[in-house]
Amino acid sequence: MRIPRIRDYNNTHWVVGDEVYKCTVHKKLPLKNNGEAFGLCDQAKKKIKLAAWQGKIEGLRTLLHELLHAVEQEYQITLNHETLDIVSIAIADILIMNGFIDVQK
Ligand SMILES: [Zn+2]
Repeated sequence: MRIPRIRDYNNTHWVVGDEVYKCTVHKKLPLKNNGEAFGLCDQAKKKIKLAAWQGKIEGLRTLLHELLHAVEQEYQITLNHETLDIVSIAIADILIMNGFIDVQK
């Protein structure tokens, strides 16, 4: 399976627990305290937003990061944010390094 481009995630749906999260891609995701987010997860509205300017690997890591925020909500667990960040990177790396997702294509 080739690694998706960030725009490939636009209007995709992700089942997490008993819920479905809709993922959309946006040119910019401004934060309240200035700056921009790579991604956002609205656990109440079941929506994930990804910033369009990311590369493929970065985008996969961000999607997994936001899905883990969805997991926190749907499985009623709380993950330390640094732990969540490292786990999302580790899962992306495992999928890539073991050939499940092909970065070359
Ligand atoms: Zn986060």
